[in-house]
Amino acid sequence: VPCPYPKYDIAFVPGLSALGVSIPGLMLANESLLARMSDPDDDFVANLVTHEVAHLWFGGQVSMRWWDDLWLDEAMATYLSDTADVDASTDPWTVYGYLEKPRAYAADEMPGRQPVSSPVASAADALFRLPPLTYSKGAAVIRQLGALIGPDALHRGLSEYLRRFGGGGASLDDLVACWSQCADRDLTGWAGPRRVTRSSGRWRRVSRRAPMTTDSSIGCVRGWPGSCGPG
Ligand SMILES: [Zn+2]
Repeated sequence: VPCPYPKYDIAFVPGLSALGVSIPGLMLANESLLARMSDPDDDFVANLVTHEVAHLWFGGQVSMRWWDDLWLDEAMATYLSDTADVDASTDPWTVYGYLEKPRAYAADEMPGRQPVSSPVASAADALFRLPPLTYSKGAAVIRQLGALIGPDALHRGLSEYLRRFGGGGASLDDLVACWSQCADRDLTGWAGPRRVTRSSGRWRRVSRRAPMTTDSSIGCVRGWPGSCGPG
């Protein structure tokens, strides 16, 4: 899917409140990152830039219809940046495994743990969600789906999603429909709400009371706060 914008600039901004911010055709980057760019062994800025570039499509060309799908933009940018960096740097999924994934596990042990997708009343509610759940756990869920349906079907589903909803908004249901079409299997059960048990041994949509575990070939993404408990 071609880049939806005619050009892309990066501006380093002193005192920017975030490390990076994407708007169509422009990335604002924190000026403090310049120091890290001089270290050839430091891949952090490269990974950040690919994350923000991914937002040209996920967040720019197609954006979430409502804030409960914030993870779609952020988890997708995280997943795609690590995938894109595989050939360009030290294995980003290894870094993810020992750096980011533990943060997601830690967040899932906290009282505010949430499924990666659950209803929110406002943007503030979505942004208040623990970032490791939105970014790291969300990326893990997408990677897990890739293991389930294969990377080709995963990526063809993303292309179909961008083609079908480009220039507008979309929801998790829309994306799951594209993945289902390209995987030739119904994935609504993967994404739909369901109860989970502490002992089921699957890493998937996780509720307030059911912590993530590590061994799974199928995940479940969406839920509502407090809806999933032992049982
Ligand atoms: Zn982002």
